[in-house]
Amino acid sequence: MKRAAALLATIAFPAVSWCFAHLQAPAASFDAARAYEHVRHLVEIGPRPPASDGIHRAQEYIIGQLKSYGCPVEEHDFHASTVLGSLLMQNIVVKLHGAGSGIILYTTHYDTVRIPNFVGADDGGSGTGTMLELARLWCARKNSLNVWIAFFDGEEAQGNWTDAGSVRWNNDASNNTFGSREMAAQMALSGELKHVKAMILADMIGPKNARITRDTGSTRWLTDFIWETAAQLGYQNTFVNKDYPVGGDDHFSFIRRGVAGCDLIDFSVRDTYWHTTQDTLDKVDPQSLAIVGQVLAATLPRFEKKFP
Ligand SMILES: [Zn+2]
Repeated sequence: MKRAAALLATIAFPAVSWCFAHLQAPAASFDAARAYEHVRHLVEIGPRPPASDGIHRAQEYIIGQLKSYGCPVEEHDFHASTVLGSLLMQNIVVKLHGAGSGIILYTTHYDTVRIPNFVGADDGGSGTGTMLELARLWCARKNSLNVWIAFFDGEEAQGNWTDAGSVRWNNDASNNTFGSREMAAQMALSGELKHVKAMILADMIGPKNARITRDTGSTRWLTDFIWETAAQLGYQNTFVNKDYPVGGDDHFSFIRRGVAGCDLIDFSVRDTYWHTTQDTLDKVDPQSLAIVGQVLAATLPRFEKKFP
């Protein structure tokens, strides 16, 4: 009898605590293993330059994942006039509706630079994997602001490059950032651009012991806001208080039009594997994806307080 009662207690107790946990419905948190798995899958596809078989497979993968989370997905096709001629590109955009008119725009690019055998684990992969995992969280969340997540095509300079040097010296702003320029122009036309409170870009955030410096071309208050969020979580060693000018990237397509923008990037790799065939999966550390993902996840409730 005593034994039976004890047995009953051990059965009943977990059942009660499970019910309790279920009622409290703890918020899902950023899962770096999932983000890393996305990077692994993208790398496995191989090179993903605009208008290639590889990028079409990447589009299929990104859209399939987003739909599996119940996200509303928009495919924005456009023709980009490049030095290689007109290329069909596609931005993939998730628009989650909040109560007011303010929009927070989280972005990355999913194309890779057109260098033979370049698979872009960090450059293209790390930001895409992180945004896919954030989409899983936010598509299931009740957001009070409008949250848009954009995956840009055509960030990289177009050309049939042979190595990093040839890209570097031909990186003209009229021949790169096609996706972000297209989206910013469309949003200006539709009148939506003026509702964007902040545009955040994640690009090359995957290196081991990532050191994300403060891009001096990004909007000051927004950079402060993100770095404060990181410091609150104890990630000052990743979001370091050091200025660095990034130069051309997708955030400028919005900053040029008066939108607050910030680029999260560890550009210390520019003299190692950046734009080389060494940008492989081993360069991406799930821990870096975890830190950046957690910081970005924590910015959203803070934005909701800032822009009620
Ligand atoms: Zn690049």
